[in-house]
Amino acid sequence: MGYEFKCKDIGMDCGFDVKADSIEELIPVIQAHAKNAHGINEITPELFNKVKSAIKEY
Ligand SMILES: [Zn+2]
Repeated sequence: MGYEFKCKDIGMDCGFDVKADSIEELIPVIQAHAKNAHGINEITPELFNKVKSAIKEY
């Protein structure tokens, strides 16, 4: 059991996906990816909500 995030689920043309045991572990990985791969330096509250709703349990 854990949580999974796929970049394409927020509408990005991107094959990145990440799995972790908790959302708390997932967020920093997503932040680092957003910065490195998409040049997003700051996660706005709007984007954060989008990311959170795209996170799925598996
Ligand atoms: Zn991406």
